[in-house]
Amino acid sequence: MNIHKEYDAISQCNKCGFCQVACPVFRSTGHESGVARGRLALMRAIIEDRIVWSKTLEDPLFNCLGCGACTANCFGAVPTSDLMIKGRAQYLEKVGRKPIHTLLFDQLLPYPGRLHLAARAAAAGKNSGLSRLAGALGLLRVLGRDIAKAERILEKLPATPFRSKVKPGTYEGKGPDLNIGFFIGCGIDIIQQPVGRESFNLLKQYGKTVTVLDNCCCGLPARTYGDMNAAEKLARKNVSVVESSSLDLIVTDCSSCAAFLKKYDQILTPDTREPLRQFPKVIDMVEFLYDHRPEPPDSDRTIAATYHDPCHAVRGQGIAEQNRAVLSGLPGIEYREMAEADWCCGGAGSYALSHYDISMKVLDRKIKNLAAVKADLVVTSCPACMIQLSHGIRRNDLKTRVCHISEMVSGAWKRSVFPA
Ligand code: SF4
Ligand code: SF4
Repeated sequence: MNIHKEYDAISQCNKCGFCQVACPVFRSTGHESGVARGRLALMRAIIEDRIVWSKTLEDPLFNCLGCGACTANCFGAVPTSDLMIKGRAQYLEKVGRKPIHTLLFDQLLPYPGRLHLAARAAAAGKNSGLSRLAGALGLLRVLGRDIAKAERILEKLPATPFRSKVKPGTYEGKGPDLNIGFFIGCGIDIIQQPVGRESFNLLKQYGKTVTVLDNCCCGLPARTYGDMNAAEKLARKNVSVVESSSLDLIVTDCSSCAAFLKKYDQILTPDTREPLRQFPKVIDMVEFLYDHRPEPPDSDRTIAATYHDPCHAVRGQGIAEQNRAVLSGLPGIEYREMAEADWCCGGAGSYALSHYDISMKVLDRKIKNLAAVKADLVVTSCPACMIQLSHGIRRNDLKTRVCHISEMVSGAWKRSVFPA
């Protein structure tokens, strides 16, 4: 990767500053280095040899959430988050990758079995208090600068992954003709299994068959980190998983995975792109539920629900109306729009592990808006957003429950709001 090739794109920035108002990092820190204009100026200075590659560039290059809000607010639509990823890729080449990323992207994420074992070990540590001890001793710092603080974001880690209970393979559904591939994101597999279960059952109502895929990580975390080779390797592996299958479409209930799977033609290089011709159309679960809404059971109680737009749904895929239409159409739901619903919650994958304090400032803004709308439920479609929102709700002692849109459509939300 060589960001010199991006000089023209970077130079499109006319320094107008319209991106300031939309940037969650800038609005939280007030630092020009955190906004698109400052980030683009930095990359221009690197290309013009006014700044040399060194570890001091790590923070300004890596503290962008990649939310894309600046591009949406920029007349020239300068793709700052994509340019930052290219800057990170060159940083890794010039300054080096961290051993933890080599372990994660090369040894764990391509192999679901190894990832499950690591998750089991992490669950055992977390649920027994061992990770707190490791944090106190500073051992967790090898994983990332702020990991010891960020460790409290997850309340509990389930001991068994989703695919240990619902094994990869093909299951009979009740539908007439659709053969659906169910792509399991790492967040659903390891942390949000109840969501996976509801999505799986909903897909079985419409698919003639539902195939739980033996996929690995979609590659988004590697790409976000700037590790283009690891991202491409993961994408190739996933493309090969569905090779010569007769799937009509692939559905995933993680909007971040969906956005990235839809971009595989840009991730694979021209010489590895050929098998992609066989890759079925990818659909976000939100889009699937919009097209295939089951008749929901009546409800004799009404609760207020609001929606948080994941960045990878609203800006990554242009999904903004379908989710609201699905939610407002459910009986017993009074839909309330929250202010700045499409602002990043600060989760951004593993952002809080490395930038906990900024992540919490961004989250506080989201939680303030959530508290103001006085909703019983906040609904979304990305496991990372669910984790971050739940953490913000606990930190602020709110009573709001976080649900995935699949849990809303299936009616599972009632179990958490009205326990028997
Ligand atoms: S809005 Fe676009 S053109 Fe204006 S300063 Fe920001 S990135 Fe540059
Ligand atoms: S992608 Fe988001 S965090 Fe990064 S500069 Fe743009 S608005 Fe700010």
